[in-house]
Amino acid sequence: MEKRAVTMDKLVALCKARGIIFPGSEIYGGMGNTWDYGPVGVEIKNNIKRAWWKRFVQESENSYGVDAAILMNSRVWEASGHTTSFSDPKMDCKECKSRHRADTLIEAHSKGKVNPDTMSNAEMEAYIQEHRVNCPICGKFNWTNIRTFNLMFETSRGVTDENQNKIYLRPETAQGEFVNFLNVQRTTRAKVPFGIAQIGKAFRNEITPGNFIFRTIEFEQMEHQWFCKEGTDAEFYTEYKKRAMQFLLDLGFKQERLRFHDHDKLAHYAKAACDIQYDYPMGWSELNGIHNRTDYDLSRHQEYSGKTMTYVDPMNGERYIPYVIEYSIGADRLMLAVLAEAYDEETLENGEVRNVMHFHPAIAAYKAAVLPLQKNLAPQAKELYARLQKVFSVTYDEAGSIGKRYRRQDEIGTPYCLTVDFQTADDGTVTVRDRDSMEQIRLNAEQVIAYLVEKTAF
Ligand code: ATP
Repeated sequence: MEKRAVTMDKLVALCKARGIIFPGSEIYGGMGNTWDYGPVGVEIKNNIKRAWWKRFVQESENSYGVDAAILMNSRVWEASGHTTSFSDPKMDCKECKSRHRADTLIEAHSKGKVNPDTMSNAEMEAYIQEHRVNCPICGKFNWTNIRTFNLMFETSRGVTDENQNKIYLRPETAQGEFVNFLNVQRTTRAKVPFGIAQIGKAFRNEITPGNFIFRTIEFEQMEHQWFCKEGTDAEFYTEYKKRAMQFLLDLGFKQERLRFHDHDKLAHYAKAACDIQYDYPMGWSELNGIHNRTDYDLSRHQEYSGKTMTYVDPMNGERYIPYVIEYSIGADRLMLAVLAEAYDEETLENGEVRNVMHFHPAIAAYKAAVLPLQKNLAPQAKELYARLQKVFSVTYDEAGSIGKRYRRQDEIGTPYCLTVDFQTADDGTVTVRDRDSMEQIRLNAEQVIAYLVEKTAF
């Protein structure tokens, strides 16, 4: 496989320099593993979410969206099992006091050859002892035992201190879809099988956050739950694996940088589970998950809420609790993968190196940049810019040589540069420069709009 120019350091630097992603609370010295999306980054992330929503709601038969509250009744998290078992195996280094996940230590030490998912805590401790897995920070070997650590952020509600109730910031968006199963079914009159999707924030007090926006304590998930009848679940699970992969390929990912990873150890309620992994700058890691969750979630909510979650088939009156195929992908993790996949350093014929982001045009922050060749052409260029703004997210730049302006747009992945020049006054045409091939054609304003509509669709 070709050697890639991308590294995590280069991505972080580019994101900061070009307004894609800034460190969170930077002027106060930052706040570990929080990140703020800047003017370019928020456009890219919104486009990622839009593309996902289009594919999995708008174009999906019988799929419906919700936007549920982040703060939910605490009973939801008892029913889902999060209050008791949403935890990671944590170990502290007694020498340098750094905190680690035992499973991650084993995975890194064995270079991915040993799968800690199948191990108990005692087995993980034994492995770490036997192989003398040292602290990756200070290199010493002096560990505490494994302790489990609940990843949910707690807060409280109530007007006075004496009258407070513990509540949680949701650690996943899925429960908002499960608790609304009957509301959605009733109001849309959907028949099983049907889907409920949601995009929203989730929070996890991760033990080892890091790798830029790969693992953070606050992130966005895009989740789709497909409710189906037992017996049809295996087929839909396979279908969702395919759909999840196809979505990534259509976004422009190379197949050789994506792979399925089937889980050996399943949660007690799950019938099948897999991830799609991406070859990130730091190595192969999970990008999204697909799970066959059986009827566990709806059954648990029925048990804990006392409200029936039974679906009645209008054709034959059959009553059952549907199975769920869950497809879940982090918007930020996908953003990181999109950035890594797009990054390129190209050596041009004149020996210069250009940094270019080869985003899918639908994902790029701006569909086009309007550039007057000289400052005195600005009025005409601004006219075109104003016209395009009504239809697309576009940008405008009149500062510096045209070559420098092209490079600036290449660096943020703008797929087309529209240059207003002296011929524009004569025949109304502008040059349209293609980011990837750098070839230029001439089109008038009407043609430009039609061209961009066609070229930037997802
Ligand atoms: P991991 O094994 O990496 O911790 P997970 O299996 O716990 O992930 P899920 O609970 O299945 O992840 O969450 C679904 C998706 O949400 C993940 O595939 C990932 O894209 C995203 N995600 C999960 N945790 C984080 C996080 N801390 N930061 C950013 N994205 C996350």
